[in-house]
Amino acid sequence: MTEACVLCERLGLDRSAGGWIVRTQLWAVCPHPALQAPGWFCLTPTRHVESFAGLTNAEAAELGARLRELDSALRAVTDAEYSHAYSLGANVRHLHILLGVAQPGGGKAARGAALLKRVLDKDATLVDVALTDSTRIMTQRILSAATQNRDQ
Ligand SMILES: [Zn+2]
Repeated sequence: MTEACVLCERLGLDRSAGGWIVRTQLWAVCPHPALQAPGWFCLTPTRHVESFAGLTNAEAAELGARLRELDSALRAVTDAEYSHAYSLGANVRHLHILLGVAQPGGGKAARGAALLKRVLDKDATLVDVALTDSTRIMTQRILSAATQNRDQ
């Protein structure tokens, strides 16, 4: 890390202060850091790396499992049929993948490209603190159980 990195800074904090709901040696998951939209999470490597190409073999190998677990947990918690994911890297240069689900009852504006535009624009109408919190708690339970089962 050559200059201040907000994700490295957060990763240096303890689990509760950093908002991390699951953290392995290589990857960590927190709620979407910029928008309290229900069912949106951020998956990031625990060390500073700026691109997929910069991942170690171990990080790359574990990425698929982490994405699969997060997608499965999200779909179980929200009853979503599918999830959306993106990784831009333009502003925060620490690799991170944002993964989330369509918003219930919102029609075409609540899924697909229209939803991604609203998420990127930090559309305040997507914010639902109570639902975001309950989704986070339920997702954390599933991911923690999966992590414990995997580590045994
Ligand atoms: Zn970083």
